[in-house]
Amino acid sequence: MAIVIIGAGQAAGQAAASLRQEGSDEEIIILGDEPHIPYSRPLLSKEYLAGHESARLYLRAEKFYTDKNVTMRTNTRAEKIDTAAKTVTIEGGEVIEYSNLLIATGSRARILNIKGSDLGGIFYLRTLDDVDAIKDAMAPGKKVVIVGGGYIGLEVASVAQTNGMDVTVLEAADRILQRVTTPEMSAFYDNLHTSRGVKVLTNTGVSGFEGEGTVTHVCCGDASIEADMVIVGIGIIANTELASEAGIECDNGITVDERCRTSAEHVYAAGDCANHPNPILGRRLRLESVPNAADQARVVAANIMGKDKTYAAVPWFWSDQYDLKLQMVGFSADGDTQVVRGDKSENKFSVLYLKDGALVAVDAVNCPADFMGGKALYGKKLNQDGLSNPDIPLKDLVLSE
Ligand code: FAD
Ligand code: NAP
Repeated sequence: MAIVIIGAGQAAGQAAASLRQEGSDEEIIILGDEPHIPYSRPLLSKEYLAGHESARLYLRAEKFYTDKNVTMRTNTRAEKIDTAAKTVTIEGGEVIEYSNLLIATGSRARILNIKGSDLGGIFYLRTLDDVDAIKDAMAPGKKVVIVGGGYIGLEVASVAQTNGMDVTVLEAADRILQRVTTPEMSAFYDNLHTSRGVKVLTNTGVSGFEGEGTVTHVCCGDASIEADMVIVGIGIIANTELASEAGIECDNGITVDERCRTSAEHVYAAGDCANHPNPILGRRLRLESVPNAADQARVVAANIMGKDKTYAAVPWFWSDQYDLKLQMVGFSADGDTQVVRGDKSENKFSVLYLKDGALVAVDAVNCPADFMGGKALYGKKLNQDGLSNPDIPLKDLVLSE
């Protein structure tokens, strides 16, 4: 018997390390369908795409897993979970017994299924192999059309533009970043990209692609845009099928409780595939971020080791575009009031979001102090006089309860 982890990504790598830190000496088997040991996806659309080979790409060196007696089975796809027999069946039919199971299957890129979508030169960005193929195809002067004005689309746009490509971003909604922030921040990022030479077309859905073998044009209704290559970043789909086929409860992700336990005994889930109750925000969430995957994995490891640990964190995110670091705490959509601090024209400002006078989110651009302040002061009532003055630290504006 062993502790089995399905998926060899962010949550899996962290869970194995945390299990050893918590004192587990049981065999740990990680089953990953990619050919790689766990690596950092955030670098893929940032430094790694920009050509900065980073020593930080792999979460831990291969030696770590060998030294810690973690069996890393790459190129190994789990095909079935039997929660009654406590087994996982892998491709080829081998059956592995588990004492405890962690499902950390993450998510996959949402695929376009429209006319011409199987042409060459159309890429998605989820894995290290995806980004290696994209890097091979990118070159200064080439025309790249990016479908989707979310994090992936905009991070890729900034790298491609900086590398001298001709960049067009197509966004189906009426503004970029609409899933994650407010119209004010969307407008700021739209101006940023436009001022650097990127063409940002909102309200523009893609109806098809044209080309002989390789894409040459992207069709948007009656309009046609020339393209040497296309990169699609239109969101993800959580990998929940293994769990649901095993009868494990799923609802927008694999349903877990505050201890990251699924509806099946001895089966946990963590990361992009898990839907958890957040006691601070008072609702269930399925998050797509590294801090979420890593923190949930730590909770799983502690609970497998008999501790009673719950997951309760204010969500946070970041995005690097050009020389701007966007750091976000909470969800801006939760606010009823917003206050800008700092100077947008200097690319150094933050937007604070309050609900009934209490801080519920911060979007900070090149303002790490406000980001840190936002994390520390989440839910606190703030004095609104002085809130827009960036020289007054947020902690000095907290109202006594
Ligand atoms: P993953 O890291 O996706 O790992 C899951 C693994 O399981 C995958 O390797 C998958 O192939 C494998 N798998 C699935 N099914 C099976 C199966 N049946 N058998 C075996 N293996 C299986 N988040 C941030 O917080 N900040 C960022 O800046 C940021 N940037 C990102 C940039 C890019 C390009 C991408 C793609 C994501 C980014 N994210 C970022 C999101 C972040 O990477 C994810 O939230 C995080 O990786 C989730 O971790 P996970 O362990 O749940 O899933
Ligand atoms: P995303 O953030 O969901 O953004 C996708 C965008 O594409 C949305 O604005 C979406 O609009 C739009 N879109 C959907 N269908 C479209 C179509 N047919 N044509 C044009 N636009 C379309 O997803 P993503 O950027 O692809 O990122 C994928 C995953 O990686 C997510 O989990 C994300 O969180 C993660 N990631 C995170 C970071 C970060 O945290 N910094 C960086 C990169 C990636 P609608 O919302 O209207 O559908």
